[in-house]
Amino acid sequence: MASVEIRDVRKAFGSTQVIHGVNIGINDGEFVILVGPSGCGKSTLLRMIAGLENISGGEIRIGERVVNDVPPKERDIAMVFQNYALYPHMTVADNMAFSMKLRNAPKSEIQARVSKAAGILGLEKLLDRYPRQLSGGQRQRVAMGRAIVRDPQVFLFDEPLSNLDAKLRVQMRTEIKELHQRLKTTTVYVTHDQIEAMTMADKIVVMHDGIVEQMGAPLELYDRPANLFVAGFIGSPA
Ligand code: ADP
Ligand code: MG
Repeated sequence: MASVEIRDVRKAFGSTQVIHGVNIGINDGEFVILVGPSGCGKSTLLRMIAGLENISGGEIRIGERVVNDVPPKERDIAMVFQNYALYPHMTVADNMAFSMKLRNAPKSEIQARVSKAAGILGLEKLLDRYPRQLSGGQRQRVAMGRAIVRDPQVFLFDEPLSNLDAKLRVQMRTEIKELHQRLKTTTVYVTHDQIEAMTMADKIVVMHDGIVEQMGAPLELYDRPANLFVAGFIGSPA
């Protein structure tokens, strides 16, 4: 695992500035949630940490390393998206192994990692199935399995539960937290759902129109919101 340091980071698309000098410090092993309304810049910030979007100003560090110019493949991170497209023609095991194969890892190591990840996520009996033979929750677990197999220093999640029904969403929140307690991998998790943020985060970062309104532990924000925006956002039902 590693810390992630976001210093005065800006982003413009053409002449439109969408992130205005954001500062966030994320400790080793911390589970941090970026929360805020649609369009406030959560995905853009996450994509800049992943290296999928170049940054217009400022600095991002992963561990000791400034990664501004480091391509995504060379950053030690794994990302789980909302539309976690699995490869339909590959089994669960092959889906999980794929990124390791791309990196030319030895076969024995790939097998060991896949079976360890399958054990952690309860996928042992599903390894030979194809994605179409899985439920929504099982597919989501495979998507997480792909990330775990890489054993990255940082996990990035972008609204990973928003395509699931309400019951499954609650169950997966618990599973993701248990996973984090077990692996202790530094995690940056994006959601627009304040209940998800309040129940899962070590630290919440409330964003609004490309700035950070407030940052702190869930109860701290709940008890002492810095302004009306935070009070309204955290206090209102999802
Ligand atoms: P969120 O994830 O919080 O919903 P985004 O990070 O997706 O917000 O978007 C933040 C802002 O940046 C929005 O106004 C969005 O329209 C704009 N934006 C995102 N990606 C692009 C892009 N590739 N080109 C132009 N504008 C973009
Ligand atoms: Mg988004």
